[in-house]
Amino acid sequence: MSLSERYAASLSAETVVVAAGRPPRKRDEPVNPPIVLSSTYFGSGPLADGDRGYGRYSNPTWDPFEEALGQLEGSTLPALLYASGLAAVSSALSLVPAGGVLVMPSHSYSGSLVMAAELAQKGFLELRTVDIADTDAVKEQLAPRGADTRTASMLWLESPTNPMLGIADIRELTGAAHRAGAIVVTDNTFSTPLVQQPLGLGSGVVLHSVTKYLSGHSDVVLGALVTSNPDIRAALLHHRIIHGGIAGPFEAWLALRGLRTLALRVERSQASAAVLAERLSAHPGIEGIRFPGLPQDPGHERAKNQMTGFGSIVCVQIAPVAGLDGADAADKLVRSLELWLPATSLGGVESLIERRRRHSAEPLSVPENLVRLSVGIENVDDLWADLKQALDSLDG
Ligand SMILES: *Cc1c(COP(=O)(O)O)cnc(C)c1O
Repeated sequence: MSLSERYAASLSAETVVVAAGRPPRKRDEPVNPPIVLSSTYFGSGPLADGDRGYGRYSNPTWDPFEEALGQLEGSTLPALLYASGLAAVSSALSLVPAGGVLVMPSHSYSGSLVMAAELAQKGFLELRTVDIADTDAVKEQLAPRGADTRTASMLWLESPTNPMLGIADIRELTGAAHRAGAIVVTDNTFSTPLVQQPLGLGSGVVLHSVTKYLSGHSDVVLGALVTSNPDIRAALLHHRIIHGGIAGPFEAWLALRGLRTLALRVERSQASAAVLAERLSAHPGIEGIRFPGLPQDPGHERAKNQMTGFGSIVCVQIAPVAGLDGADAADKLVRSLELWLPATSLGGVESLIERRRRHSAEPLSVPENLVRLSVGIENVDDLWADLKQALDSLDG
């Protein structure tokens, strides 16, 4: 670390994303860390703690990003970088003991749900899914059920959820989970540590699909976990080494480069999302909208209590028009756009739009006519003009 620990701890997140993970401040040192391409490291004799050993155990290119993300999430320990968000999900789920109970939002990221359901199908764990915005219902799932005397081993949180934008009461639920003896993992992909810090709200582990906002340019697939608990971190690191879901050095370097502009990107895209949500909610082509920043949104008050902003994902339901049901109208809308890119994923500099149910793995409870907008950093009036022409054209 190039900054003293005390000085680094006094810096705001907007500064940390730029200043963390730099090489030492010495004459002729590069100001950016290098990419290290080596599958092994010089050495003989028994491996000691901190030895790099082999390319699957550690790589110097991971370190600056892991340091920076750990600090951003308010951990005293560096993050762990993974090959993808789902590699991080796999590692986090390995913390559920055999036969343990996993409580998960029914609108979690679909890949996380599929993984958990497949583990349950093989009998490795019991999966209980629940509406994460319904605090009482979650508490019921954490407790023993009828003849089944088991309490939950893990509570999985995602807030806002993907794509329904449900808001969990993170502080209340982590308290209940801890009383039940469960570890809490929070997928913080949608919010980034600049908008929400789950460790401070009681979560034991934080998960990111680094693919999204943290790297921010839709050119990298990576994931990460953060925890302040040394034993949990050691277990996760062991899982990463043995299961091998490690990051490539090029991707790790690109993620750090993307992280440098995170604060600016988040600030711009959040501001634009708020403007677009307001304008969309007033358009007759929209029959429903979810955005926690709207005062009428069911998650608004909760979001205000635990987030510093409202994120930059907006979900709308498209009204049927003459000759087209809502799903077909949504497909037509997506096809009529010129600036917005029709593509899956989110959190990049470019604005992306997608009808979620085009994926067969998407839960059936996600409405067919629901379109998810990931607001990028383009000019907000250009983004609106494109949406408006496509919405207006639906009727013609
Ligand atoms: C994309 C995503 C994931 C999975 O991450 P990958 O990098 O695609 O493996 C997990 N959680 C959320 C909320 C996501 O958006």
